[in-house]
Amino acid sequence: MADLNTTPRPASTDESWRLATLDSYDILDTSPEETFDRISRLAKHIFRVPMSTLTFIDGHRQWFKSKQCVTATEGPRATALCNTTMEQNEPLVIADLANDLRFAANPHVTEGDRIRFYAGVPLRTPDGTVIGTLCAMDTKPQEHIRPDDIEALSDLACIAMDELELRKVARVDTLTSLLTRGAFRRDGGHAFALARRHNHDLSCVIIDLDHFKAVNDTYGHPVGDLVLREVAKTCRDEIRNSDIIGRIGGEEFALILPHTGRDGGMLVAQKLRSSIAHHHIPLAASKLIVTASFGVAGLDRSIDDLDALIECADKALYSAKTKGRNRCELFERPIDARFGGARRRVLKAGRISLSNGRSTIDCTVRSLSDEGAGLDVISALGIPDQFALQIEADGIYKQVRVVTREARHIEVAFESASTAAAA
Ligand code: GH3
Ligand code: MG
Ligand code: MG
Repeated sequence: MADLNTTPRPASTDESWRLATLDSYDILDTSPEETFDRISRLAKHIFRVPMSTLTFIDGHRQWFKSKQCVTATEGPRATALCNTTMEQNEPLVIADLANDLRFAANPHVTEGDRIRFYAGVPLRTPDGTVIGTLCAMDTKPQEHIRPDDIEALSDLACIAMDELELRKVARVDTLTSLLTRGAFRRDGGHAFALARRHNHDLSCVIIDLDHFKAVNDTYGHPVGDLVLREVAKTCRDEIRNSDIIGRIGGEEFALILPHTGRDGGMLVAQKLRSSIAHHHIPLAASKLIVTASFGVAGLDRSIDDLDALIECADKALYSAKTKGRNRCELFERPIDARFGGARRRVLKAGRISLSNGRSTIDCTVRSLSDEGAGLDVISALGIPDQFALQIEADGIYKQVRVVTREARHIEVAFESASTAAAA
């Protein structure tokens, strides 16, 4: 059963602003990256402890962009120690959590990793909005905490934020010389709008290297970086100058192909797949070969914006991965799409209200239309097929029914008759 909401929330306008700010960095659910892993490694070294996380907090969960010796990749927001750091908006240092009334019964202290020492600092944007934390933790209490160490942790948090800020404005990824994620989305969005206005074809290809973690683990990160550069160059050399190519994640690349429909997109993907698989990465002692999986989607009338097109290509990529990797898959829209409507990608805090509001479950609203919504939850298990959904920022309080459910995501359709404004 998902966690019940137990913590008071900041005013909804502040929270809406905070979530919109977090969304603008485009960092949630991206792959692990060495840049941030370096920061979390330093955080644990400062306190000479085994565990640390670089955490971002959305509507319902804490999610770790980087983590050291922590097994989970995310957890409920309501019980997150980092949520307390974020909401108090200043460093939180607890020498022994078991001796602190606020945390002694917290599940992170009593079960799982059984954390006893916690030091966390807020990740603050230039306008002062807190979007997450950097923290160091130990399973043993810490006796001697030096103020210098907290200052060092705060400095590291500033470095993490500087990196995020630079990424917002940078056009070129320093490792591969391809467009950054932000620049790719800006240029891709422009190409998308042109294709829409002039009724041109356009397709999107998403590329993800196969088993890349094993490359890093076997040969080390510098070789991993060389592989990323070589793959980027192979792709760039094979496509037209007018095509748009970016590095949108650690080992993920994306293409926008103007004037190219889905079949043409598939041909480009197949050419790139073959080039990558036949390319020998030059190493001092040997030669290395890597493969990649491809997802392809073409623009059609039901796709409203670039994000929706990328999402379709991403679904096809997922299918390429599950079918064995080193292959290209084309996105096929399910014939029985049970509810449509123009879907907007959003990041909003939501609440699932059960038993006439007697209990609530936090969720994050990731997409929204007049007919339904896509909700991220800590666990879809135990959430009934019908409930009331509250999206405070939009004054929405609607009865909904579940259309599809995955482990941590549910799609709901609004029940038209029972729509009511939030009290
Ligand atoms: P799959 O076939 O399912 O895609 O497996 P995978 O191992 O490629 O996927 P996973 O997402 O588990 O691992 C991605 C790895 O990419 C983990 C991360 O350390 C590595 N990575 C991300 N950014 C960089 C980078 O800038 N340099 C290097 N060397 N590695 C990176
Ligand atoms: Mg990946
Ligand atoms: Mg991969």
